[in-house]
Parts: sequence; C-alpha cells; structure tokens
Amino acid sequence: MAGGDPTREQLEFFRDLGVRDVFLDPSAAAAPSAVSPGSMPDLPSLQKFLEGCPRCKLSKARTNIVFGQGNPKAELMFVGEAPGRDEDEQGLAFVGRAGQLLTKIIEAIGRKREDVYICNVLKCRPPNNRNPEPDEVASCRPFLDEQIRLIAPRVIVTLGTFAAQAILETDESVGRLRGRWQSARGVRVMPTFHPAFLLRSPERKKDVWEDMKLVRDFLAAK
Ligand code: URA
Repeated sequence: MAGGDPTREQLEFFRDLGVRDVFLDPSAAAAPSAVSPGSMPDLPSLQKFLEGCPRCKLSKARTNIVFGQGNPKAELMFVGEAPGRDEDEQGLAFVGRAGQLLTKIIEAIGRKREDVYICNVLKCRPPNNRNPEPDEVASCRPFLDEQIRLIAPRVIVTLGTFAAQAILETDESVGRLRGRWQSARGVRVMPTFHPAFLLRSPERKKDVWEDMKLVRDFLAAK
C-alpha cells in the first residue's frame, strides 16, 4: 500500500503469517540519539549532552567519561585513541605517562598544554586498553566531529594509527601517513606516532620532532 505506515504494514504482514506475539526491546526504545551535526552551541553543552552516556558497551565498565580538555578556541588540537587507566580514573585525557610525554612534545614547539585542546576518538576506556571496536567508534564519532566543529582548530595532530585511521577514514598505518599533511573536514591533519609508542620505541622520537616542526612552522605562518 503506497504511502502507508511501514511499521503497521510490517506488523500486519507478521499477523498474516500467524505471528501472535511481538517483543519490543525497551533498551532500543530508550536509546538516546547521537548528537546531530551542528546542533551544539558550545563545548559545555556538548559535554552535558554526553553525561551518563549509555550508547555503547564501554559505558558499563568506565569510571569516568573522558570528554577532553584545553583551550576551547585552540589553533592546535591533539586526538588520541581512547582513555587509559589514569584517564578513566581522573576523567581527563592524557594524564598518565604517555600524557606527560605529550606535554613535552607540546612544549617542544613552544606551546603550553593549556593553549591546545586534547581529546580522544573514544571517550570511555576499553577494558584492559584493548583496541576500540567499530561499533564503539560509530557511537562516539559524532561527539568528536562536533568537538572539531566547535573548536575549529587550524591543525589536528592525530596520535597513533587508530586516531589517524578514524579521522582520515583510511586503512593506512601511521608509519605511512606520518609527516605528510592530510585533511579532514576542511582541517589540516598531521598524523604522528602515539606517545605511548614513543615510550616503547624512543628512537622514533626524532620522527615526531620532524612532524611537530611542520606543525609549528605552519602555525607560525599566519
Ligand atoms: N592514550 C590515549 O590514546 N589517550 C589517552 O588519553 C591516554 C593514553
């Protein structure tokens, strides 16, 4: 029946097949919507919208949602993978050992941590720091996109393979992507290694320094 109510039609179809009981999943009915692109006036409103988020399975084990922090009008934004144990406990991004190294990287290009904005693709910690799963990224992604829109940075530095792949929507590894300007949603993106990787492979710090010099020089040339 053209123009009819598709739900009614489907139910009538099942009835005609002899189906007598239909069980509704109450959690599906109660599932909150994702944030609509462009709908949030500022970061505090977005953070409030995310409060108590039950949108994916990571909500069950997290201690805190790690929204991200820093200058809401930063020219430079860093995006990592997901909170680790320290971040989950404190509700702040990059506050553990990798975060301390990130602070040094930021200071090496003459900026302070509070000048930049730091967040992750995922806002909740995956159990035992396992890799993020596609459904988790899909749930969280609209929040990152809205953060990027509201902050409107001149440059995003992605930290590690996962963040680069999520932001650039590619399967390439960070080893192949790093050191070359990319772009996403009209913003320049510089992929580089994750500071946690640098803690294990300090010989790659020089590569990150090369990448960060490109970022520094681009930001210096207004
Ligand atoms: N690693 C990340 O990717 N993000 C953090 O916030 C901490 C460690």
